[in-house]
Amino acid sequence: MKLTWHLRRLHLRHPFNIASLPRTNSVAKDIPLIRIEHAGHAGWGEASPASYYNQSIESVAAALQEAAGMLGNDPLAFDSILDPMWERFPDQPATISAIDVALHDLAGKLLGLPVWKWFGLDARRAPPTSFTIGIDDLDTISQKVREAADYPILKIKVGTPDDDRVLSAVRSLAPDKPLRVDANCAWRSADVLERCRHFIPRYRIELMEQPTPRGEHAALPQVRAAGLCPIVADESCHSPEDVLDCVGNFDGINIKLSKCGGIRRAMRMIHVARAAGLKVMLGCMIETSVGIAAAAQLAPLADWLDLDGHLLLADDPFEGVGGERGRITLSHEPGLGLSERPLRNAQRTD
Ligand code: MG
Repeated sequence: MKLTWHLRRLHLRHPFNIASLPRTNSVAKDIPLIRIEHAGHAGWGEASPASYYNQSIESVAAALQEAAGMLGNDPLAFDSILDPMWERFPDQPATISAIDVALHDLAGKLLGLPVWKWFGLDARRAPPTSFTIGIDDLDTISQKVREAADYPILKIKVGTPDDDRVLSAVRSLAPDKPLRVDANCAWRSADVLERCRHFIPRYRIELMEQPTPRGEHAALPQVRAAGLCPIVADESCHSPEDVLDCVGNFDGINIKLSKCGGIRRAMRMIHVARAAGLKVMLGCMIETSVGIAAAAQLAPLADWLDLDGHLLLADDPFEGVGGERGRITLSHEPGLGLSERPLRNAQRTD
């Protein structure tokens, strides 16, 4: 098998900010796209390295350079390919996810089946996805809520002194939509119960994601006992092992391929979560349709979807996930069902 990759410079429709990162006005984002070729077929993968998980374009590049020589010649030998990569790059799940996703796309094409069908899933069971509104000034947030009129569920990033004003504005513009809230670790044990008791009933919050930092879970059983809404782990849950640590502290987990290391690990996390009585959200980073279509293959196994990363891009280079108004439609084409859009301008940066 032959692995090649390039950086694609993409642009967001709006700057995107969350509580745990410094604010930025940049709309440019470089995304490593990888391609694995074998027997006349090619599979696509995408790495979305997160700085808060100690990964970068540089760490992806270094890992890919080495990983290219570790693929062997059997695209269906997932464990034989991926296990040595986990041993060699245990801190680079975004890179391993890109390889895992490209192998699934390739294997689906070789088998002549969409990945979800190969897995025996029923595409009609996929729940609708939320649309995420990042941290911003009130005018911009209001504009984004209006632009998201077609999406039936909103996920609002909070974790600033403006949380009340933001949620109040969103609620008045979207009086009937389910609202999900993500604090990205911004709240603290000392007042998380008080904050949840204040915000969740007042703004009719459907679920609350990662209120306190990873490892700071002491107050969460009390929050759960208050019965306000489901509490979902994101930054606290990277791996199948983390899932067990979430039991008792959270009601569900948010699985992202770039965070956990790909489709194969995500499946393991789903099985562990189900066995432990936890609900499952499938989420994403800001990604092209490659990453979103990959996660969407598992959508029929999720309770909640947050697969909107490609919708935040102005120039997604692929098409893969159909559907309108938040409804995910899985392709019947083999693999991930991706098609590449023609390259416009000079998006390719290498
Ligand atoms: Mg989150």
